[in-house]
Amino acid sequence: MIYRTLGKTGLNVSILSFGASSLGGVFRDVAEAEAIRTVHTAVDLGINFIDVSPYYGLTKAECVLGKALREIPRHKYFLATKAGRYGNSEFDFSAGRVKASVDESLRRMGVDFIDLIQCHDIEFGDLDQVVNETVPALREVQKAGKVGAVGITGLPLPIFEYVASRVEVDSILSYCRYSLNDTALQEVMPYVESQHLGIISASPLSMGLLTRRGAPSWHPAGPAIKAACARAAEHCAARGSDIAKLALQFSLANPRIHTTLVGSANPANMENSVRWMEEPIDTQLLAEVRDILAPIHNQTW
Ligand code: NAD
Repeated sequence: MIYRTLGKTGLNVSILSFGASSLGGVFRDVAEAEAIRTVHTAVDLGINFIDVSPYYGLTKAECVLGKALREIPRHKYFLATKAGRYGNSEFDFSAGRVKASVDESLRRMGVDFIDLIQCHDIEFGDLDQVVNETVPALREVQKAGKVGAVGITGLPLPIFEYVASRVEVDSILSYCRYSLNDTALQEVMPYVESQHLGIISASPLSMGLLTRRGAPSWHPAGPAIKAACARAAEHCAARGSDIAKLALQFSLANPRIHTTLVGSANPANMENSVRWMEEPIDTQLLAEVRDILAPIHNQTW
């Protein structure tokens, strides 16, 4: 496993990291014992950065993750969670709510410290409230010794500079914007790097679009994106490969990204992901797949 410093957070994180949304049954029904085993597998393979949110499975992911973490020495992982999003359309970025949210997450996961607390999907809130109220409130929580760093997450890329140029944050988490079908995250990197922010890229498999199983029913991508990704998956299968492997290798190959969060509640998936990371990428197949995806490149939702 390779480790990189997550910008000014100072955390030395594995370049492949574990996204725990799957533990909340976000992609399919998950057996708890299997989910817990997946966390252990990830940590045993050298993954030391774990990301979750109270929103995932409406607190279920944090609860299941907490059960797994109780059996893992605290120094073996850095823990990131979020505040501000609590349902599909339930957001509350007020100071009171996010402060209470941190305490709830600590309790749910049975830890006394969260390494990184992130304002979750800020584009659904009022960005000026995030600047003037949410981040300052989380800085107070940091001063109280409950969290180590403060970050922001979301889909549209302009939100990061808007907030980071108005209030000090330590990291950004972008998702689905650095994968085979979309590399737009590169456009904001010069600014993000100039501020020494930690760069977390999530969803290298584009939340399931770049897997054999395909996207879950709730996936927000439009039909053209889904169809192109399905064609790319078929092409990889016809070449005796797996689109998930190519996608993961592609996303992990960019050294400007400090860590890439992949999600799964299946131990074998995590084992495959780590193995794939260590194998060379098939450049011929990569070129073919990027041709298939070219018509929808950088299209989002
Ligand atoms: P992902 O791109 O990691 O895809 C997950 C899907 O891929 C699941 O269906 C999983 O079963 C499958 N998969 C994983 N490894 C595989 C393998 N080796 N082979 C085949 N299939 C495999 O998307 P994600 O889970 O949404 O993103 C990862 C994490 O990033 C999340 O768990 C979460 O922690 C974080 N995230 C954060 C935000 C946000 O803050 N707004 C948004 C999206 C994701």
